[in-house]
Amino acid sequence: MSDDLFKKITSHAKEYGFVYPSSEIYDGLSAVYDYGPNGVLLKNNIKQYWWKAMVQLHENIVGIDAAIFMHPTVWKASGHTDAFNDPLIDNKDSKKRYRADQLVEDHLAKIQAKIEKEVRKARKRFGDAFDEAKFRAEHPRVQKYAAQIDEISRKLNNALANNDLAALKALIDELEIADPVSGTRNWTDVKQFNLMFQTQLGAVAGSAQHLYLRPETAQGIFVNFNNVLKTARVKIPFGIAQIGKAFRNEIIARQFIFRMREFEQMEMQFFVRPGTEMKWYESWKEKRMHWHRSLGFPADLYRFKDHEQLAHYANAATDIEFRFPFGFKELEGIHSRTDFDLRRHEEFSGRKMRYFDPETRETYIPYVIETSIGLDRMFLAVLSASYAEESLDDGSTRIVLRIPAILAPVQVAVLPLVKKDGLPEKAREIFDRLKWDFQVQYDEKDAIGRRYRRQDAIGTPYAVTVDHQTLTDNTVTLRNRDTMQQERIPADDIPHILNQRLNLKAWLD
Ligand code: ATP
Repeated sequence: MSDDLFKKITSHAKEYGFVYPSSEIYDGLSAVYDYGPNGVLLKNNIKQYWWKAMVQLHENIVGIDAAIFMHPTVWKASGHTDAFNDPLIDNKDSKKRYRADQLVEDHLAKIQAKIEKEVRKARKRFGDAFDEAKFRAEHPRVQKYAAQIDEISRKLNNALANNDLAALKALIDELEIADPVSGTRNWTDVKQFNLMFQTQLGAVAGSAQHLYLRPETAQGIFVNFNNVLKTARVKIPFGIAQIGKAFRNEIIARQFIFRMREFEQMEMQFFVRPGTEMKWYESWKEKRMHWHRSLGFPADLYRFKDHEQLAHYANAATDIEFRFPFGFKELEGIHSRTDFDLRRHEEFSGRKMRYFDPETRETYIPYVIETSIGLDRMFLAVLSASYAEESLDDGSTRIVLRIPAILAPVQVAVLPLVKKDGLPEKAREIFDRLKWDFQVQYDEKDAIGRRYRRQDAIGTPYAVTVDHQTLTDNTVTLRNRDTMQQERIPADDIPHILNQRLNLKAWLD
């Protein structure tokens, strides 16, 4: 995968109505995007797939939908007002702004790339006899690079853990990191930058109360803990799930919908008895990976990456990383958050945030396992894993989105072979019958081959074609997007076939 592929996916997403730059007629707004007609369908289907897997299929998980605005003390309690910062640095020549930690991360990635190059060269040289593990463990140059990576990572983690901005700057100087734009090393000092957007409540200047746009949806769940406990008849262990917008004033946001300033999260907080959290952490890791894998993309697109440096509230944390066109990056976080959030809200609000456990007859603040996935990142993962350019036997190429049928924006297209002889009327009849249960698209414009290509390009798994034979025996052809095979079936069988293909149990179980 490559930059080139990423560019193709980005422009395909725009050309076919998935994702547009925000306010484009005014030249766009950086790191903010709008979803088009196919995008909103795909996005809604991803939400549904998550929501059903979490809420509908778990008796002990309920949903909420909290407001984006929250009392400002929420963010004091959660630690965001004081600590939701990224270290930023400016290059004085290019006037470009960077995340200081990411400049070091990029430097590390370059050293890692040198290791991989040595390994590739050796594999070529030694052929079948190549023992990769031994080579990595013993080759002097590889060893030297690996030691450099360890040393730099140690310094970086120390600087971040101790909030030592001077040490971070010193590391950038020591590594002689240059600005990719200007090529110079003329850097400012490193400064902390809070990622929360501020706004104000109320019209009277001066007396207005400062509010934040929420930077995560999780706190809406924590502050409603007592409400849900009282009204939903849930018993520990239980979860609260939510899908909603979050806002972060990201310092750099250059990767399309991977890093946005306004985005959507799908989060679930699972409340457990203290001491059992590791069992539940492992269980949620497994369940969430199963959910990703249920979509049928290749297994090697996913990996776990445990956090080396834990956030102040966590006692274990891992990311499910996905191989995006620009490399493996975080798609979902699974965190064991201890009782940090509920305890802090208890302190700051003066209200008890506790659970009486009828089994142990004890009252305690529950521990929490969180699963947190970015909806937009999931959207990008689906797009990039689905996008394919294929050379066909007739010498032409087709672009096809192999979107899992359960997520496809349009599930079936209904196409009259020609625009005459009563075929459009017959096709309309079939369309009208299917539209109650499925997202259907009717299309009669252009030659049939071009219409198939259009459906391939938006990932429609099935196309039903109505031809002259349909008028006599009520059969149609059903074309499969992936195999391009067509089979002749009775028109009355279409709903049954689609229902089988879109059966949630078949996908998730
Ligand atoms: P990153 O390290 O990439 O900034 P994070 O560790 O800050 O992410 P979390 O706070 O754990 O992310 O948020 C949970 C999920 O929300 C992430 O796994 C990601 O999918 C999504 N997410 C976070 N920030 C953004 C963003 N700026 N744009 C889109 N999705 C995001």
